[in-house]
Amino acid sequence: MPSTVDAVAVFCGSRFGKNPLYKQAAQDVGQTLAKAGIRLVYGGGAHGLMGVVADATLSAGGAVTGVIPDFLESREKMHEGVAELIVTDSMHTRKQIMFSRADAFWILPGGFGTFDEMMEILTWKQLGRHSKPIMLINVANWADTLLAALDAAVEQGFAAPTARTMIQAVPDIETALACSLSAEKSDRVAVEQL
Ligand code: AMP
Repeated sequence: MPSTVDAVAVFCGSRFGKNPLYKQAAQDVGQTLAKAGIRLVYGGGAHGLMGVVADATLSAGGAVTGVIPDFLESREKMHEGVAELIVTDSMHTRKQIMFSRADAFWILPGGFGTFDEMMEILTWKQLGRHSKPIMLINVANWADTLLAALDAAVEQGFAAPTARTMIQAVPDIETALACSLSAEKSDRVAVEQL
């Protein structure tokens, strides 16, 4: 089946988190993308899981685009090995560029920044601005509480059940890849039905 996914934006922590499985998953993501010939689009930093994903992609011969705001260049330490590094003047431009460069979004463990990026991309989809697959990779069940919050919004009548289907929780990277390759069409139908 021809891939409709040429680039994946990965959102994840600028820290490692406590469970060593998070780092392992970040390495798997990089290796999987490189092997599949899919470009990594990410936040451009060298720290934490973000740096691990970029390093793993580059080591496996993959292509990487980093997008980092100028004021974060030193705090998140801009990744020196990334060939295509785009420096933006704001967080908003960073997210906009990451959004437009990617055909799908994968969310790995992370903190508030990762939550923000996930929610923004999900709400843009809810508003019919795109139909790109969003995969929440639930490594070691790190995202169970996030998923419960999304379910609660539907149960309490604040979000449509259709909107809840616009983000898919997957247990591992292989499933994220398979679902990303097959999801684009069904997600477009869901968005059109809004
Ligand atoms: P974190 O999950 O908090 O480690 O952050 C992961 C990435 O999200 C980092 O590159 C942060 O710069 C970025 N980030 C932090 N806050 C925001 C925000 N309000 N909007 C977009 N990205 C953010």
